[in-house]
Amino acid sequence: MPTEELRDGAAKYLMQTYARQPISIVRGRGAKVYDMEGREYIDFVGGIAVNILGHGHPDLIQAIQRQAAQLIHVSNLYYTEPQVKLAQMLVDHSFADRAFFCNSGAEANEAAIKLARRYGHEKHGAERFEIITMKNSFHGRTLATIAATGQEKVQKGFEPLVPGFAYAPFNDFETIAGMVSNKTSAIMLEPIQGEGGVHVADREYLKNLRELCTQQDILLIFDEVQTGMGRTGTLFAYEQLGVEPDIMTLAKGLGGGMPIGACLAKESVAAVFTPGTHASTFGGNPLACAAALAVCRVLLEGRVLDQAKRMGEYLAKGLADCKDRHRVVREVRGLGLLQGLELEIDAKAVVGDCLARGVLVNATSERVLRFVPPLIIAQREIDKLIETLSAIFNHQVVTEKDAHH
Ligand SMILES: *Cc1c(COP(=O)(O)O)cnc(C)c1O
Repeated sequence: MPTEELRDGAAKYLMQTYARQPISIVRGRGAKVYDMEGREYIDFVGGIAVNILGHGHPDLIQAIQRQAAQLIHVSNLYYTEPQVKLAQMLVDHSFADRAFFCNSGAEANEAAIKLARRYGHEKHGAERFEIITMKNSFHGRTLATIAATGQEKVQKGFEPLVPGFAYAPFNDFETIAGMVSNKTSAIMLEPIQGEGGVHVADREYLKNLRELCTQQDILLIFDEVQTGMGRTGTLFAYEQLGVEPDIMTLAKGLGGGMPIGACLAKESVAAVFTPGTHASTFGGNPLACAAALAVCRVLLEGRVLDQAKRMGEYLAKGLADCKDRHRVVREVRGLGLLQGLELEIDAKAVVGDCLARGVLVNATSERVLRFVPPLIIAQREIDKLIETLSAIFNHQVVTEKDAHH
């Protein structure tokens, strides 16, 4: 179907929840994708931090094909090997003792929110239900996760919101310490705010949060849906930030493109989930788990994590040079292969310009370009991105109005 027809079909038949770029992608290889007309693009979006191993990774394809031929789904009424193996893999390589599987980031956060509430109820009584999250955070689009998300734009028109959330400014320990009360069951945050514009949590701030939580038996929840699975150069971002959470959520990169989410927790916390308290029909099905297992194996046994770390540094350096050369760039932020470039101008136009030059990038919050390529991205592909941005920024005039925004 030609792109024009697809666009018309989408306009007619789909609920209009997305603003899409005017291309249709038909195949991918490594860090490149190809559109209907055969044009090539370097993929710095990576399915929004999902395609950890890039497109068409042989190990991932083989794992999915084999498992699909053997058993796709049977429900959680029975044991299946890929689910147990994946849980063990994640437990062996993290702070956590147990895993619950679901299908998305929002669902992983729902599980974390329910777990925290139940823990509060059981250990401290029914008054202990409040979860403090961060302003400018992003935790998903379900009713509970939009309430957890500290951004009015995702909540507007969907009120009444699920009660029991309070919002603290990110990286401000004084304020959150003042908000904590005997109602507080958990503090939930992204170690790096992704959708909110790529803001990295300070180590000192996290250390203080950890101490506060431990003292008052408040659960510390890290939403690593975007930062997990090697994105920042270590399997999980918390490893680099010097603090372990009590609960962690994963999704995006976990299945390398197969939909799967996970909520991981320490034994003492996980113990409040007993049979019948939480469930998901598709959660942890053999096909999704086999894919996630293949992703984990490649990350842990291959050199992909090292590569991600090196390429992350290379990308950050390239972007920093870009900032030095172009007035339109205000700041570079990020860790590993989660990098953001804050501009003095609206980032959306730059996204279109990059697309026209064969580079996929994405804008998050109004003025921030976000780069979340596959971890197998090559140096020359990063060079192409920097060249492309420079060529675009050369034509960009910063008005006084922009600069003082
Ligand atoms: C993308 C994202 C989510 C939501 O994940 P979905 O799979 O879209 O539900 C939650 N938290 C963070 C930090 C994310 O980046």
